[in-house]
Amino acid sequence: MRHPADSKAWKHVDKEFPGFALDPRHVRMGLASDGFNPFGPKSPGNNIDVYLQPLIDELKDLWENGVETWDAKVKRNFTLRAILLWTINDFPAYGMLLGWSTKGKFACPYCNKDTEYLWLKFGSKHCYMGHRRFLPMDHRWRRNKVSFNNKVETRDAPMPLTGEEVLKQYESFEQVSFGNTTRKRKRREEERRWHNWWKKSIFFELPYWEKLLVRHNLDVMHIEKNICESILGTLLNITGKSKDSEKARLDMEHLGMRKDQHPLVKNGKYTLPSALYSLDDDDKTYFCSFLEGVKMPDGYASNIKRCVDVNTSNLSGLKTHDYHVIFQKLLPIAVRSILPQDVVIPLIELSRFFSAICSKELSIDELEKLSISIRETLCRLEMIFPPAFFDIMVHLPVHLAEEANLGGPVCYRWMYPIERYLRTLKEYVRNKAHPEGSIAEGYILEECMTFCARFLDDVNTKLNRAEKCHGE
Ligand SMILES: [Zn+2]
Repeated sequence: MRHPADSKAWKHVDKEFPGFALDPRHVRMGLASDGFNPFGPKSPGNNIDVYLQPLIDELKDLWENGVETWDAKVKRNFTLRAILLWTINDFPAYGMLLGWSTKGKFACPYCNKDTEYLWLKFGSKHCYMGHRRFLPMDHRWRRNKVSFNNKVETRDAPMPLTGEEVLKQYESFEQVSFGNTTRKRKRREEERRWHNWWKKSIFFELPYWEKLLVRHNLDVMHIEKNICESILGTLLNITGKSKDSEKARLDMEHLGMRKDQHPLVKNGKYTLPSALYSLDDDDKTYFCSFLEGVKMPDGYASNIKRCVDVNTSNLSGLKTHDYHVIFQKLLPIAVRSILPQDVVIPLIELSRFFSAICSKELSIDELEKLSISIRETLCRLEMIFPPAFFDIMVHLPVHLAEEANLGGPVCYRWMYPIERYLRTLKEYVRNKAHPEGSIAEGYILEECMTFCARFLDDVNTKLNRAEKCHGE
């Protein structure tokens, strides 16, 4: 698979709506929304559907009636129709659009109400482990009590819901009225004991929505960044980023896991016995100087060197793409000589998983292998890292290979291009009192320039220049 057109989700549309698939000029779209708000930190939150309503109406019109469009090749008008294939969002926005809260007990939208959660008393948060459920029934780790939660695992892996099943769940609660309605919100809390729905998604107003295979995409960019941040923070024990803390160890004691790592009390203070992944100061220095010593290729936007402080073994100011490079290319080499095999293996496997899944060409065979291998990798991590490490981001990779199997290559379904384009839009802002006006004007100007440039044959523009710009 090289393009979404090779994916099952795309072909499924062809099968379900043969009339639409007949004309290749019909458009298939993805919708991305991101946390960009010119009016300050206030986010529309759950009320986002109010803002989406006009868009949904237009999408419905585009699907049912289409628009008259000029085909320049055959020099004739035709009716152009369009379908919204899926949405792309970071995880909080994913929850807002789907209407399924991505926080709390049932945070995973794929596992739905069967999300495996555990409340950490000392860390005051939920963690999401239990990846043995995803292993084959006869896997030996399912019977291994000591390395996991002191229980045998006999449950099946949860199945993702189809559109019809989502609609069935919708029948069990009433749609919210938007705006601040405290009374209704309280009742919702009651219902949320067994599910995490907080509203019915507005996208189901689209007549084709329930038939689609992938409705919302998990954003690999943010998942990869957050996991890498957790790993680096924990290995280097960076304050505020490490998932291994006094509280994490107290929770382990509370859960009766791995006795050798429980905190010890000495003179009224806790000391933490070293765990498999604990690095001593020399190793931390080695790790940081390794990152510092890497020479980034020309044309690369960021300089990792500047973000590393070898003296304090601290990392700061890394960008999302830096985490991408560190996780996929540098981490496997850096940890190999300083950590024991049991830690190195799952870290390298995880790094390989992400680099395989991000490749521009995916094969179904390989995705099936990846889908199996990531389950074992997560189980291996469960045997080493404390429960506090397993936030929802660490759980999500278990669904990524299957999602790629349905939706095709990740690079067409992630936030990198969106975030880059938002930066361009932000650069249009000249008058800070009216940013939206500046953006609209900047956008129209850019479009006009592009249009005019097509008629300027003897003038050098960026569109007819022989050499293409880097990255275009
Ligand atoms: Zn899940």
